Amino acid sequence: MLIRNHLAILSVFLTFWLSACYTVPQTGRSALHLVPSDQLASMAAVQFGQIKKENTISTDPKYNAMVQRVGKRIARVARTDMPNAKWDFVVFDNDELINAFAMPGGKVAVYTGIFQAVKSDEDLAVVIGHEVAHVAAGHSNERVSQRLLAAGGALALQLGTGDMDSMDRRLLLAAYGAGASVGVMLPYSRYHENEADQIGLFYAAKAGYDPRAAIDFWERMSALSNGALPEFLSTHPSGGTRIHRLTEYMPEAMRVYKNSYGVSL
Ligand SMILES: [Zn+2]
Repeated sequence: MLIRNHLAILSVFLTFWLSACYTVPQTGRSALHLVPSDQLASMAAVQFGQIKKENTISTDPKYNAMVQRVGKRIARVARTDMPNAKWDFVVFDNDELINAFAMPGGKVAVYTGIFQAVKSDEDLAVVIGHEVAHVAAGHSNERVSQRLLAAGGALALQLGTGDMDSMDRRLLLAAYGAGASVGVMLPYSRYHENEADQIGLFYAAKAGYDPRAAIDFWERMSALSNGALPEFLSTHPSGGTRIHRLTEYMPEAMRVYKNSYGVSL
C-alpha cells in the first residue's frame, strides 16, 4: 500500500518535473520552473486586467508615447527570449509611486511617479529593461516553483502515511493551483534583482540605449528613496553594491551598444 502511495506521489511530481529545467537567457543559469509558462502567462493576464481596472490609466501623451516607444524597442530585443509574449505597456496615473512592474507573458506597468527619476528614454530603458528581464528570466516561475516544492514536500509527508485517494490528489492539486496564482505577484529575491539588472542592461544596450545611463539613474533612485524605500527598491541591492555590479557589466554592455542597430559613436 505504501509503495502505491509513493508511486502516486512520484507520478504527480514527475509531471511537474517534465517542464522543470529552464535556462535563463543571457546569464545561462539553470532555473527550476515547475509551472508551464503559458499557464503562468494566462493567470498573469487575468490579474493584469484586474489591476488595470483598479488603477487610473494615465492620459498624459508624453509619458504614454515614451513608454510605448521604449517598450517596443525593448520588446523587440527580448523577442528571442520571449517568443510567445503578448506585450502590453501601460502607464498608471500615480505620482506617489516611484515604481514599475512586469508580469509573466509581457504585461508591463509604469507609474507616473517613476518620472521623478526618469528623465530620458535611456533612463526609461533601464527601468523597462530591468522589468522585462525579470519576466524573460522566469523569476516568477522560479518563486512559484520554490513554494510548490515546499508545499508539495509537506503534503507528500502527510500523504505518505495514508492512502492517496482522489481526495488527497485533489488537495495536492489545489495546493499547486493556489501556490501558482499567489506566486504571480511574489516579491523577487535580491538574487533575482541582480540578475534583472544584468540582463536589463544588455536589453537596453541591444535596443540602442546608452547603458551608461543606468549608473546615473540608479544613483538618482537611491537619492529619491531617502530612507523610506519605494517598492521598486525594497528588495533591491543597496545603491553602492548595485553601481559596483553595473560597472563590472559595463564594458560588455558598451560592446553590445556599439554593435546595436542604428548607433554610431
Ligand atoms: Zn526588480
